[in-house]
Amino acid sequence: MIDRHLRHRYSRQTVFPGIGEAGQEKMIKSTAVVIGCGALGGNIANLLVRAGVGKVRIVDRDFIEEHNLQRQVLFTEDDIKERLPKAVAAARHLSRINSFVDVEGIVADVNFTNIERFCSGADVILDGLDNAETRFLLNDVSLKHGIPWVYGGAVASVGMTMTVIPGKTPCYRCITPALPGPGTAPTCETAGVVGTVPAVIGALQATGAMKILVGGEVNRGLTIIDVWRCTCNTLELGKREDCPACHGKYEFLESAFALKTTSLCGQSRAVQVVNAGISGIDLQELAARLGKMGKVECGEHMLQFHDDDREIIVFPDGRAIIKNIIDEELARQLYETYIGKLTRTSQANG
Ligand SMILES: [Zn+2]
Repeated sequence: MIDRHLRHRYSRQTVFPGIGEAGQEKMIKSTAVVIGCGALGGNIANLLVRAGVGKVRIVDRDFIEEHNLQRQVLFTEDDIKERLPKAVAAARHLSRINSFVDVEGIVADVNFTNIERFCSGADVILDGLDNAETRFLLNDVSLKHGIPWVYGGAVASVGMTMTVIPGKTPCYRCITPALPGPGTAPTCETAGVVGTVPAVIGALQATGAMKILVGGEVNRGLTIIDVWRCTCNTLELGKREDCPACHGKYEFLESAFALKTTSLCGQSRAVQVVNAGISGIDLQELAARLGKMGKVECGEHMLQFHDDDREIIVFPDGRAIIKNIIDEELARQLYETYIGKLTRTSQANG
């Protein structure tokens, strides 16, 4: 039974027959994991927290920049001044929106070593990602553990979404057999994005998740929306006979494909260096050391270092994003020069 206060709080959606009080109770007992908290993830998390999903975990590796504010609804100019990572800022704002929801913000680069941990206990996973590689990884985790997920993508004036129910519907790999070649797919940086696209797609993704959680009918097919033309089409798709993921072969999770070409929030001139050999880094200690070489701004959640035209952002997990650079080898060298020794297993995503 929902208590009186919450019954009143959620009354405008429980009176809707598709949800009802029974559906609301299920949502309150549920956990949703949002992977990526940019434009899509921010819209999704906002709606799920307001709807009263009991636990919402947000995972994002990025920090906030001014050009994000055009479409990333959870962030403010103050968040940029405070140098908050997206996951931290999002969790802070969402907790103020609905204090009855357990909101968890995790600052981390999602990869094959940690994605299963981030998704454990989830009743539904939501895709707020900006790259296909991690999406394939998410698809593998979903199918391996039988957790439904809702795909979403947005670029220029077009967005699309699809619900994946393991074993029942086609999966993401059924409809996208292989990774697009580097630089072949349009990104928000090269093709732009109208802010209303992630608003519409994020809302549909959140609705798809709510339907899964209340046990209602599931959305079928791939829905494609063009906000500028004002068109909406849903394609009926079938499972692909030779889909590895649908046959229990999780190639991305088993890291058969190295994550090499992950662009950073559509930034082509930024390289992320992951140092797999360390568990964390003392930002204050690093700030004291780097202060002798250039301008350093250090907060609790990230450190920014400027040297000539370079900007290096370091996170407590030892990860760094190096801006205004495209050469991965140079990025590794800069990491070793300024931050510390890289281990052999570390990777750079450019
Ligand atoms: Zn499949």
